[in-house]
Amino acid sequence: MVALLRSLPPAAAATLLLAPAAQLTSSAVAASAVSGRRWRSVRTNAGGGWLSGLLGGKGGGAPTAMTVTPGTVKAGDPVLHEPAQEVAPGDVRSDRVQGIIDRMIDVMRKAPGVGLAAPQIGVPLRIIVLEDTQEYISYTSKKDIEEQDRRPFALLVIINPKLKNTSKRTALFFEGCLSVDGYRAVVERHLDVEVSGLDHNGNPIKVQASGWQARILQHECDHLEGTLYVDKMVPRTFRIVDNLDMPLPIGCPPLGAR
Ligand SMILES: [Zn+2]
Repeated sequence: MVALLRSLPPAAAATLLLAPAAQLTSSAVAASAVSGRRWRSVRTNAGGGWLSGLLGGKGGGAPTAMTVTPGTVKAGDPVLHEPAQEVAPGDVRSDRVQGIIDRMIDVMRKAPGVGLAAPQIGVPLRIIVLEDTQEYISYTSKKDIEEQDRRPFALLVIINPKLKNTSKRTALFFEGCLSVDGYRAVVERHLDVEVSGLDHNGNPIKVQASGWQARILQHECDHLEGTLYVDKMVPRTFRIVDNLDMPLPIGCPPLGAR
């Protein structure tokens, strides 16, 4: 995701940086048991965020003990590097899956972030949540909002998402991730996508998205394949958040639509 944190008002920034570490929830434990694997995740490590990431702003530099994103697992944990499992349609309305969804929304909003995939809370299931608000967008410059084609959209919960590109248009912008706190890199993404799957009630849904929302969807669906943005980034653009505005190295492609 692309970043917001640089421009957060002081109170919000303090909340972000000083939020207490989250506890492992019973639903998380249940999911661990059901998945049949030891759930090593759900740690409470360094911060910055997918909002900080996908919101587009700076999140306070390299990860430290004071920049915690509660409840998210971090790069290096196998759950983030392996494909996640489909949710059986008959399980969508179960207490277990509903509890996982509730926790994902909670973690995303507290980060704050504009998207989250279940593996990021240590759950190896194909579930994503995303949301962008006028408030989040207001922390980004008008120029960036226009260039990134960023518009608010209501909370989306998509289970077993299937993503396809609906045009050949692409764009390069900086992204971050709640699981790779404190860093950003340029990633080329498709500008127009369609995602089909199930909603939180298990009913079929189809989402047509473009611009920043399409980027968020691609980033979150990548998580379900065990792919992080750093696996797709333009390598020499990787940097700490505080250096986000510094020039790209010579030879790197320019930001924007291609
Ligand atoms: Zn991410």
